[in-house]
Amino acid sequence: MSKNQNKTGSYSFFNCIEKNFDKAARFISIEKGLLEQIKACNSVYRMHFPVKIGKEVKVIEAYRVQHSHHKLPCKGGIRYSMKVNQDEIMTLAALMTYKCAIVDVPFGGAKGGIKIDPQTISSENIEKITRRYTSELIKKNFIGPGIDVPAPDYGTGEKEMSWIFDTFLSLRSGDVDALACVTGKPISQGGVRGRKEATGLGVFYGIRELCHVKEEMYSVGLDVGLVGKKIIIQGLGNVGYHAASFFHESGAIIIALAEREGAIYNKKGLNVSKVFLHLKNNGSILNFPEAKNIENTEKALELECDILIPAALENVIHKNNANRIKAKIIGEAANGPITPEADEILDKKGVIIVPDIYLNAGGVTVSYFEWLKNLSHVRYGRMEKKFRENVNTEFLKVIETVCKKKISIEEKKMILRGPREIDLVRSGLEDTMINGFHKIRDIKKSLKIENMRTAAFVLSINKIIDSYEKLGIFP
Ligand code: GLU
Repeated sequence: MSKNQNKTGSYSFFNCIEKNFDKAARFISIEKGLLEQIKACNSVYRMHFPVKIGKEVKVIEAYRVQHSHHKLPCKGGIRYSMKVNQDEIMTLAALMTYKCAIVDVPFGGAKGGIKIDPQTISSENIEKITRRYTSELIKKNFIGPGIDVPAPDYGTGEKEMSWIFDTFLSLRSGDVDALACVTGKPISQGGVRGRKEATGLGVFYGIRELCHVKEEMYSVGLDVGLVGKKIIIQGLGNVGYHAASFFHESGAIIIALAEREGAIYNKKGLNVSKVFLHLKNNGSILNFPEAKNIENTEKALELECDILIPAALENVIHKNNANRIKAKIIGEAANGPITPEADEILDKKGVIIVPDIYLNAGGVTVSYFEWLKNLSHVRYGRMEKKFRENVNTEFLKVIETVCKKKISIEEKKMILRGPREIDLVRSGLEDTMINGFHKIRDIKKSLKIENMRTAAFVLSINKIIDSYEKLGIFP
């Protein structure tokens, strides 16, 4: 048993990331101490605070971890789950650092968590807990537009982000940039269009890019393109839900969807919007009329498919099930869904793993856009939409005159329209995901690295080293 393994012989979550980091470090020639600084978690704030729930006072355990301050503010979501613990939040904060660097989002990594089960607590009490947590962060200077900017994560969403913003504003009244203290807010509270679906859409863009590369597809015996590819998605939270919709719309075949209560399967494909309606009406995906139930949800991961998308929690693919995974591609929409032991088994089998630190970076990318919007106090497209439409109209008139041809009304509508906020956000995200993919692939090829994860870490660490160097910290 190595020094990083716990009593049961498995690695702590943080050690898993350290392992991935160390594999990449072999390709980087820089003093060991400096690599250790990049790896370490800079600040860990563990708190306990009392909240009155009904007639009882409950002591709530919560965390905020800032992994790296090489760029400020720090950035990362806040999760509400009974599984929250220090090791998990430290690891997720570290993943945020590497993720931000890959997609050129100028933030250090952070993460927060509150150990509660939001399913069993009323909305009023979740609000109380969220507001108290925020004031604890304010007390210790762990939140602010230039300090640390939370966002949604597992078990949280727009509502919680609104409460965080409102609490921040009430204690920092007059701060003109207060809106930028948190992202993932509702549109009416300074949110940006496209944030909600951003992580799922980023997953879609990343996998679509991979599927367009002939060499990669042929290496796993698949045809080029997404159309007709058989996909399994595990987890229908915000990320899995949107990813499933985008894959379905693009012509891929969603053969199985897995949730906590079980999975459903239809080898000819599931109609994703009908499944979501069924889920909404019944509170469960099971017993969907056009599919077979799979009682043991973990078994859904082992079905024959082209692409497997784990989009729920960490460590779902481990040494005990990795050998039974039949997917040719795994897209890590969740953070850390594959343990290092499973990673090695899958690597040997030749599975292409698209790593979390790249693939699920769409959320933080659009959070960055929201933060910029909040600091500039103006909606994207507001200044240029009409101007673009006017220029396009003039341009079209010239084309019609020169070509002596009238363009149809439908075509005109397409050509003339100026960019709306959603258009700009989505195209910014698409560009980011495409660029990120090719940068990782270029490093993988040029350094002859065996897999995308190690290449992604090399890319990320090099970028962090670069910013430390430019700060004059590393010689
Ligand atoms: N919770 C998301 C993540 O893990 C988003 C973080 C953010 O937008 O800051 O990437």
